[in-house]
Amino acid sequence: MPLPGSLDHINLYLIEDSDGWFIVDTGLGTSETQQAWQQVFQGELNNKPIKGIIVTHMHPDHIGQAGWLTEYWQVPLYMSTGEYQQASKAYQPYTKTAAKEALLFYSRFGLEPSTANARSESWLNFSWPIAPLPSEYIAIKDGDELAIGQYHWQVVVGSGHSPEHICLFCEELNLLISGDQVLPKITSNVSIYPSDPEANPLANWLDSLQRFYQLPKETLVLPAHNLPFLGLHFRARTIIKHHEENCFFLERACHKPKTGHDLIPVMFKQQLNTFEWVLAIGECSAHLNYLIYNQRLERSISDQGFYLYDRAD
Ligand SMILES: [Zn+2]
Repeated sequence: MPLPGSLDHINLYLIEDSDGWFIVDTGLGTSETQQAWQQVFQGELNNKPIKGIIVTHMHPDHIGQAGWLTEYWQVPLYMSTGEYQQASKAYQPYTKTAAKEALLFYSRFGLEPSTANARSESWLNFSWPIAPLPSEYIAIKDGDELAIGQYHWQVVVGSGHSPEHICLFCEELNLLISGDQVLPKITSNVSIYPSDPEANPLANWLDSLQRFYQLPKETLVLPAHNLPFLGLHFRARTIIKHHEENCFFLERACHKPKTGHDLIPVMFKQQLNTFEWVLAIGECSAHLNYLIYNQRLERSISDQGFYLYDRAD
């Protein structure tokens, strides 16, 4: 299904049951995506209905059409509780408290007042392309098994990119539907959000990637972006290494006190557009929090109210 921007697509999956199909992930809540779904319904379903919608996690390209699809087919939504709750919270109109939290977050990061204001407004004013969510869902969790057709799909949960991200592993077919947890070319965003500035999602992310070593090495991975691939263990290791390198370079750059804003070029060399800036600040903060929790950096507050990061030695 189409996405705007350089990552121009998302892969969605259909799993065939004896009397229908399950959809895994739904695409953005745009009319373009709905038209693409209509084509699938007309050409791909062998006269069998859709039986349920499984959403790996709460990001707009995955959950965007969940409300429309469940309504269209009158079928349940299957999600983890962590993702459903986060989605219900994240896609509400913003409150005054959220605006305050965002401004403080960007100010602490080291942005000048006018830039901090602009960044927090751009964050609060994103209009996420999402159809209204269904008010009910069926909770699935780590270790659950879904029997679909003659196959069994084990739910494997990761965390860090989002709170309780579902992957589906089928031992009989040796297939892993990995969502955004393990992608072949890009690394998923691991971010701090203004509403939870002291979180440590990178620790969860690195821990949960380790779990994928327990699945067979030769599993064929069906990711949400780019092509299916072999080499799950190698890819998980490469992603872990990428974050470890970022941490190493951040730590090295903090030989004297630096703000988060000073440290952005350590992780991001390219020009960033408004949306990428917001993601970059979130991701840089996630690495800085991780280093603080691991006592590799210390944090203080400058006279101007910026956080300053300094090597702990
Ligand atoms: Zn995602």
